[in-house]
Order: sequence, then C-alpha cells, then structure tokens
Amino acid sequence: MRSRIERVQVHVLRAPLPEPFAFSQGWATHRSSVLVEIQSSDGVSGWGECLCHGLQPPEIAAEIIRHAYVPRLIGRAPSDVEVIWEELYNFTRPYGQGGAVVNALSGIDIALWDLLGRTLGQSISRLLGGRFRENVEPYVTGFYRRKNSKYPEDGILEAQRHIADGFRALKLKLGFGPTEDIAYVRAVREALGKEVRLMADANCAYAVPAAREIIRQTADCHLLFFEEPLAPEDIEGYRLLRKLGITSVAAGEGLLGKHACCRWISGGALDILQPDICSSGGFTELRKIATLCQCWNTRLIPHVWGSGICLAASLQFIATIPPSSMCLQPVPPLLEYDCSDHPFRTELVFNALGREPGGWVNIPDRPGLGIEVNREILDRFGA
Ligand code: CA
Repeated sequence: MRSRIERVQVHVLRAPLPEPFAFSQGWATHRSSVLVEIQSSDGVSGWGECLCHGLQPPEIAAEIIRHAYVPRLIGRAPSDVEVIWEELYNFTRPYGQGGAVVNALSGIDIALWDLLGRTLGQSISRLLGGRFRENVEPYVTGFYRRKNSKYPEDGILEAQRHIADGFRALKLKLGFGPTEDIAYVRAVREALGKEVRLMADANCAYAVPAAREIIRQTADCHLLFFEEPLAPEDIEGYRLLRKLGITSVAAGEGLLGKHACCRWISGGALDILQPDICSSGGFTELRKIATLCQCWNTRLIPHVWGSGICLAASLQFIATIPPSSMCLQPVPPLLEYDCSDHPFRTELVFNALGREPGGWVNIPDRPGLGIEVNREILDRFGA
C-alpha cells in the first residue's frame, strides 16, 4: 500500500517585535509566518513555510491553503509532488498566477519535499540531483531604521558589528530619499574600506530618475548590486537602469512563479534574480526558475527572510544551484542572512542552522530539510 497524505495542518505564527523597525515601505511591528505540516499514512510529517513579508498578514495564505489546497491533497501520494504542484496551480489559475496563491503553494510544496526526504532517508538536495556545495557564504540583511537612530552613524556602527562577527558582505537599506541614500552609501564605504562587499536594497522606493541618480552618484562605491530600486511592475524601468552598465540590478522577491521570472530575465531587465523559495513556488518551481537563469546566464541569489524552516529550505536549494559559469573559478551563490529581530526564528527549529567559525553556513545533509520543529514554539506564538 503506497503512502498517502492523511492530514494537512496550517500553523499561523505571530510575535511582536521587541523594537519596531522601518524599511522604505513602513514600520514593521511584528514578525509572522505560515507553517504547513503534512502528515502521511506512514506517520511521517513534512514541514513547509509560506513567507510573510514585513507588512503581510499571515491569514491570507493560511486561508488559501485551508480552502483551496487541503481538499485536493488528502488521499494523494506524497511522491506525486510535481503532479500535485501543476494541478494546484492550474486549479487556482483564474484567481492566482502569483501573489498569495503561489505564496501559499510554496509552503505545501516544501512540506511535500520534506516528507519525501524523511520517508526515503535522503536530504532534499540529494533527491533533486545532488549537491554542488556543502556550505555557502552568508551576506547580512539588516540595517533597518529604528526610532531615535542617527544615519549614517548608526549604520556604520552596525556594519562594524557584523564585520567583527565574521561577515564580509553587507546589504544596506536604502529608500529614504536619494540625497540621504547617496550620503549613506558613501559614508559606509569610506568607513569600511574597499575589502567588504556592499549591496543596497531600496524595497521599491523609487522611479527611474531618482534610482539613476543614486546609481551614478555611488558608482565609485562599487556596490555588488542594487536591489529593488523600482516598483516590481516596472520592467521597462529596470531595463533602463541595467543599460546604464554601472551597478548590477537585482530583484525577484516580488516575482512569484516561473512565468513572471521568465518575462523579466528573458526581457533583459535583471543582472541577478532573487526568488524566495517560500514565496515563488517551493522546490518544484525554483528548480525550473534556476534552469531559466542558466538559459539566460543570469545570476541567481535567492531571497531569504523567513523562519528556520525557510532558511533550511533555502540552504537545500542553494546546494543544487549550478555555479554560474562552470569554470576554474566559478561564482558561487550567496545566502541572504537575516540579522534583524525575529522572535521565533532561532527557537523554532532544533539543529539550528548556525554559522561556522569562519562565518560560512553549513548545508545539512540529513533527511528532508534536515531540521526538527519545536512544537512548544508553535503553541507560544500561535495566532
Ligand atoms: Ca529585499
């Protein structure tokens, strides 16, 4: 008798932040998450997560799972993971094709791959065809604005803390006006010297003229990339910024599913694509997006901002990304490493995915995602 899906549970988590923080779109006062637990008739549970952006209510994805997906999952074989993905996507197509609908499908897909890996005693990266790497360099996501902070001074202090902690790549938050942003990037670069890699993320704050000005005025600061300078609908604007040929242009956390990603990279709008495995369709869709990146020779650096489950899934996926250009010195992917407050991130999973002394992150090779979920945390932060 083949294993069947017996039970699907959705866990909505929400925790107030000890100190609210701002990015260019507003103030975040909570961290939230939607976790998916799928249990098979063998008694094995797999876990997945749907990413909640800073201001995203978790209930939307949770209700889509409960009403649209769960009735179509019960009784299915978990090993039909790709068949299930295509059916659920097609079923929700009239009101989906992206947004919270694909966001919700991501958590289902990750949970099915975890379930499959645990059942077969293999890590997901091995099931997907093997591992190009055993560890990955993390870069810092942080630098959120706090009440009563001063910039650039407090940004420089934060950067120095991360460097003392072993990081060598840092992403600054921009989007607070071109004049302030330009002065900020210049001050941080001057304080840190040339060795540290710096990136910038404006969280879609600008139109082309302001973004172009920032790129031109920070050209000698050698940003590794400028992330989401413009709104996620403005494909032509991204193309114009990329044509400047000064700073690499990155985006993708708002492009959910392979169709959106395909339009952008085949349309020449991006140097670097940043899909989130917990938002852009899970392992099944991300491996297709990775193939698109290979076809258009576009660098893939996943977006990562969820809980320990999201981090574990992202690491399994990163293990499977081919080096961009197979050569003697290939450019490996980086791991976005969220250093901002997240009350339940570290405690949610056992076998927490820590950094090595040199600052890199090991990619687990245990069954499934390689983590165990602490159910006490589900009770403590359950919404
Ligand atoms: Ca971002």
